[in-house]
Amino acid sequence: MHEVDMTKCLLISLNEWRQRRDDASAMVETVHLEVGRFTCVEPDQLVTTYNAAVQGTWLDGSRLTITDIPFVGRCLVCNSTYDPVPESAYRSPCCDHPLEEIVSGRELRIRSIDYRSAAGAALESSSIQRMR
Ligand SMILES: [Zn+2]
Repeated sequence: MHEVDMTKCLLISLNEWRQRRDDASAMVETVHLEVGRFTCVEPDQLVTTYNAAVQGTWLDGSRLTITDIPFVGRCLVCNSTYDPVPESAYRSPCCDHPLEEIVSGRELRIRSIDYRSAAGAALESSSIQRMR
């Protein structure tokens, strides 16, 4: 997954968010993003890409923060959850069963947006669709 594509997707979501609010005075201060470890997104690289992409736009000066969501699989044999690792081909350590169910780790969403508008500071949550 590629930080540039993801940033484009994020900017589209933020533009839609502003249109939905119908509030041209809304100034985004911080975008809180949740990114699962199984998305192959490099958080630092995403922040760098975002900062470059917003220059000169209405989002110039806004900040992106990223919360890591751990990668967790569930073993369908014994129903336990585990941390899948590539070294063991993501198989469960308990039963050596192939990874079939991902509990978390594929998240790619906006958790909340901190913004200021003519009406005062506020907090809003919205989500973007998964990209994989
Ligand atoms: Zn098991």
